[in-house]
Amino acid sequence: MNNDFFKFGIIGNPLLHSISPTIQSSALLSANLNGCYEKFEVSKEDIPRQIEFFKDNDFSGFNVTIPHKLEILKYLDEIDETAKKIGAVNTVKITDDKKLVGYNTDIYGFYGSLKGDSISNASIIGCGGAALAVVFGLEILGCKKLDIYARNTEKAQLFVKNIKLKTKIQLIVKPLETLDNLENTDILINATPLGTKGINEDKSPVDGNIFASAQKSMIVYDLVYNPSETIFLKAGKNCGLKTTNGLDMLILQGAKAFEIWTGIYPNVEKMKIAATNELI
Ligand code: NAP
Repeated sequence: MNNDFFKFGIIGNPLLHSISPTIQSSALLSANLNGCYEKFEVSKEDIPRQIEFFKDNDFSGFNVTIPHKLEILKYLDEIDETAKKIGAVNTVKITDDKKLVGYNTDIYGFYGSLKGDSISNASIIGCGGAALAVVFGLEILGCKKLDIYARNTEKAQLFVKNIKLKTKIQLIVKPLETLDNLENTDILINATPLGTKGINEDKSPVDGNIFASAQKSMIVYDLVYNPSETIFLKAGKNCGLKTTNGLDMLILQGAKAFEIWTGIYPNVEKMKIAATNELI
């Protein structure tokens, strides 16, 4: 056992349902390291004070989640190239000389959860913060064309305008209500909160009947991980399609963050077991 005591945290708002403390505690255990990982529910205005707290108390790093992944950029001393390209940071390392270095490990979580799958044409529903990491993750997976389905196409056009010069993927905005045929897509991704436990649990961004139009090899991917099978995934599964929820993405982004902070890549299987037990 290493004698150092590692301190990590997560900032965001709300954080009540975050399972990051569970997966990072499991990572510490699997890496045989002493440490802790705590939640800090802070407003945008409180971020500078929180950063001072982390520095004063010798934290090694912290995660950043909704709604601060863009706001954090202005407080960083350095930004890794991938995070710069995406324009969002979810992991910050605090160096020994108290400098803040920002990374985006959501992209690693997304493409890592799909390794081995061949994706040329993709479709995504929603275009918020998580969709940014998905676009650049799809590029790594070889995607050439992405249809972006949105309830608000003006917002989606702005999303495309902000990233189109940074990616080779052809990005096409379409109104969500026009999504009625999946025969030409290799993967359909839900990047909205619809289906999440709570008030959105009984909702899906699409009518389940559309899955009948998909090729048998199409992947149905939901960024939501709680519940493990959303209505969206259930409808895809009922049509015999391969389904993936957001848990692997969550675990892999956490594992990469842990590696950035400690230099050790943790045991992701153990992290997944801990997460699954917490979500039951
Ligand atoms: P976000 O920035 O708030 O974006 C949400 C997107 O969903 C927006 O485009 C929004 O459209 C759209 N949307 C919301 N309600 C909708 C509705 N009723 N019908 C159609 N579209 C709707 O959130 P985010 O950070 O991108 O996160 C999206 C989901 O991914 C969340 O469930 C989050 O928990 C999950 N997530 C998972 C992971 C993981 O590791 N598995 C990582 C990050 C996020 P408007 O712009 O019109 O509101």
